[in-house]
Amino acid sequence: MKIVVDRIKCVGLGLCEAAAPTHFEVGDDGQLIVLRETVDEQDLAQAEEAVRSCPTSALKLIS
Ligand code: SF4
Repeated sequence: MKIVVDRIKCVGLGLCEAAAPTHFEVGDDGQLIVLRETVDEQDLAQAEEAVRSCPTSALKLIS
């Protein structure tokens, strides 16, 4: 699976970072940095939680 971010929808709140810190980080400038795009089996639950937690529905997981 792979993480896709809609940069128009993302407002840099960082809830995804809280849910999946190995994949996301919000920089000092409020821009989301995707640390790792690829989602392995072992971090799928975290990545799904990040997608669910995003208040603007800016995240998607695609295969
Ligand atoms: S939770 Fe959503 S809006 Fe907030 S930084 Fe992550 S992708 Fe962007």
